[in-house]
Amino acid sequence: MRKLKSIPLYVKILAGMFLGIIFGLVASKIGCNQQVEDWIAPFGDIFMNMLRCVAIPLVFFSLIGGVTAVGNVSSLSQIGIRAIVLYVLTTVCAVGIGLAIVYTIHPGSVVDQSTIESMKQIYSSAVDKAVDSSSQNSSSGPLQPLVDIFPQNFFGAMGSNSNMLQIIVLAIFVGIATIMAGEKARAFSDFISSANEMTIKVIDIIMMFAPVGVFALMAQMIVENSGSADVLAALGLYMITVLLGLAILIWGFYPLLVKLFVRNFPVREFIRKMLPVQILAFTTSSSSATLPLNMEVTCRDLKVSRKTTSFVLPVGMTINMNGTSLYQAIGAVFIAEVLGFDLSFSQLLIIVLTTTISAIGTPGIPGGSIVILVMVLTSVGLPPEGLALIMGVDRPLDMARTIANVTGDATVAMMVDKHVPHTDED
Ligand code: ASP
Repeated sequence: MRKLKSIPLYVKILAGMFLGIIFGLVASKIGCNQQVEDWIAPFGDIFMNMLRCVAIPLVFFSLIGGVTAVGNVSSLSQIGIRAIVLYVLTTVCAVGIGLAIVYTIHPGSVVDQSTIESMKQIYSSAVDKAVDSSSQNSSSGPLQPLVDIFPQNFFGAMGSNSNMLQIIVLAIFVGIATIMAGEKARAFSDFISSANEMTIKVIDIIMMFAPVGVFALMAQMIVENSGSADVLAALGLYMITVLLGLAILIWGFYPLLVKLFVRNFPVREFIRKMLPVQILAFTTSSSSATLPLNMEVTCRDLKVSRKTTSFVLPVGMTINMNGTSLYQAIGAVFIAEVLGFDLSFSQLLIIVLTTTISAIGTPGIPGGSIVILVMVLTSVGLPPEGLALIMGVDRPLDMARTIANVTGDATVAMMVDKHVPHTDED
C-alpha cells in the first residue's frame, strides 16, 4: 500500500489509461460493450463531473486572486494585453502549420466516392444537430457574441460551465474593484485567497481518483468507438495529417518558443513536466477539466508565478485553442478537397481569420469545436454537411487536439511570466 502511494500520480494515470484501453478492447471483442457502459463508464462520468464542478470556483477565485495580486490596473492591462497578443500569434502560427501540412499531404485526394456517400448517411443526423445549434448562435446581429460575454445576472453566469467568458469578465471586474477598494477590501481578499486554497485542496482530492476515472473514460471510449474501425481506415490519411500537425505544434513549436523566449528553463524539463497534464487532456478531451492540473503543474513545476498562472491560464483555457484551430483549418481544407471545391487565396485567409477568432468561442469540452466548425465551413461557402466526413473520427482527434490546447496555454503563461515583475511572495 505504501509502495503504491509513492508512485507518482502521472504514472498511475498512464497505467489507468493503458489498462482502460486494454480492458475496452477485450470487452468489445467478447461483446461486453453494454456491461462497460453500465458498470464502468459511470466512474468516468463521476470523475468528469467532479472536475467540471470545480471549474467555475477555480476560474472565479483564482482569477480574482490573480488580478488583485498584480496590484495595479496598469500592470494588469500589460499582462492581459501581452497574453492576448501571444494567444493570437500562436493561434495564427498553428493555423499556418495546419494549412502547410494539409497542402503538402492532400489527404482529401484519396477518399473514394462510396466512402463519402456512406459517411454522409451515417452522420447526417449528427450534422443536422450541429448545424441547428450553430444557426441558433448566429441568428442575431454581428456584435451579439460581444454582448453575450457581459452577464446580466451574477448567478446566471455562475450557473453554467458554458458561460466561462462571462465568469472571466465578472472575475476581472471584481478583481479590479478589489484593487481599487484597497484596505477596505482586505477581508474580501483574504476570503478569496482562502477560498482559492480550499479549491486547490478539493482538486487534490479529486485527482487522487484520476487513475480510476481515466481507466473508465478510456474503456468507455474504446467500446463506444469499436464499430468505427472502417471509418478510421478510410480517413487514415486525414487523421495522420491532423496528428502530424498537432505533433509539430506540441513537440516542435512550443518547445521552440520555450527555448527562444524562456531561456532559463530547460526544454526537456518542459516536455517532461507537461506530461501528466497532457495525459489528462488526452483522456478527458476537455481543457476545462484539465485546467486544475494545468495550473498546479504550471505554477509548481514550470516555475511560473502564482499571479501569472492564476490570470493567464483560466483566460487561455477559454480563448486560446491552438490545437483546435489547427484541426479546423485542416478539416475545412480536407472537406473542400473531398467535395471538389478549390479554395482561393482569399478563402484561405478567411479560414485563418475565422479559425483564429472562433477559438475564443469554442468551449473547452469534448467535441466543443464541432459546432464552431460549421461556421468556419459556411464562411468560405462550403456545405456544412461536409462535416459528416470527419465526424466519425472526431473523438480521437479531439483527444489529441486538447493536448495541444492545454500545452499552448502553459507555454504562453511561461512567456508572459518572463516579463512580469516578481516579489518574494510570488
Ligand atoms: N475538446 C477541446 C478542448 O477541450 C475543444 C475542441 O477542440 O473540441 O480543448
